[in-house]
Amino acid sequence: MSDKKCTSCENKLEHTKTDDTSSINDNIDQNIVQDNNTDNNFSLEASVEICANCGKEDAKNICNKCKSVKYCNAACKKRHRSKHKKACDRRVAELHDIELFKQPSQLIDDCPICFLRLPFLGTGRRYQSCCGKVICCGCIFAMDKVYNRGKKKVDLCPFCRTPTPRSDDDIVRRLHKRMEVDDEKAVTLIGNHYSHGMHGLSRDYAKALELWHQAAELGSAEAYFSIGNAYYNGRGVEMDKKKAFHYWVIAAMKGCSYARCRLGIFDDNAGNMERAIKHYMIALECGYNDSLNKIKQLYSNGKVTKNEYTQALRTYQKYLSEVRSSQRDEAAVYSETYKYIE
Ligand SMILES: [Zn+2]
Ligand SMILES: [Zn+2]
Ligand SMILES: [Zn+2]
Ligand SMILES: [Zn+2]
Repeated sequence: MSDKKCTSCENKLEHTKTDDTSSINDNIDQNIVQDNNTDNNFSLEASVEICANCGKEDAKNICNKCKSVKYCNAACKKRHRSKHKKACDRRVAELHDIELFKQPSQLIDDCPICFLRLPFLGTGRRYQSCCGKVICCGCIFAMDKVYNRGKKKVDLCPFCRTPTPRSDDDIVRRLHKRMEVDDEKAVTLIGNHYSHGMHGLSRDYAKALELWHQAAELGSAEAYFSIGNAYYNGRGVEMDKKKAFHYWVIAAMKGCSYARCRLGIFDDNAGNMERAIKHYMIALECGYNDSLNKIKQLYSNGKVTKNEYTQALRTYQKYLSEVRSSQRDEAAVYSETYKYIE
């Protein structure tokens, strides 16, 4: 095994930190318009199918950007383009924001053994490369207790009872096996291992990026985040901060709290407080306490109201009440690696 502490294999999915986020404020998607004054004609035009250019009825040719106005034909669409452009961009930005700030549905997972909500990614949970399950530290600790009380130590997966991997080779071989069944977490993890040069794999950023793309296609929000980081740091690919931002947006929309918090920081630095708080709150609902710290900081700087701060505290309390269990507490006391509340 490598000396470096692995935070992923049979452990948690790791969080690849990047720094210097403040220098890329200007990468905030310029298309996101703050103005909420919508063009009232939109809905009317779209619903009665009147051509936005000539006013004739039965218009079927829809604006493929905003999908909110219709035309008789391509010629009318072309003629109306310059007039419509501003409103169209505004509508596109609004639609983008509706999607962006929607709470992703698959954010909350339960432990398949104790059925309690899993602690936040990166704390108190472990991916099992045998069965692909993510198990809470409490259940892993409970399994240890049953099998290792005064006996020879046997480490078994609490879910499928497979012995835990004994060597780097074992770890990598199992992850590859999980890859064969399109396990997005396994693919992401191998990518992480290549990126860090762990478990006998030599560091290879290009290979890591390739694997993250593969995992992203399988639906991994964390993989999208890592791709963003790769672009941000120019690892395995030419540095491109716009692309980094693009991938972080996708990651956030898919439920990655690290990416979500990062978007919050962008808006925070750009002075878009309302948007920043929205991002921080979404990340906080997943239990990401860095978000709470951000809101706390804003509160002490007078940029967040007492009400908003109270709301944030309540949200975090709700998360804590859902993840707390005596078994997990016992595990956390037993070992730092089982800690689940930061
Ligand atoms: Zn027309
Ligand atoms: Zn349009
Ligand atoms: Zn559990
Ligand atoms: Zn298992």
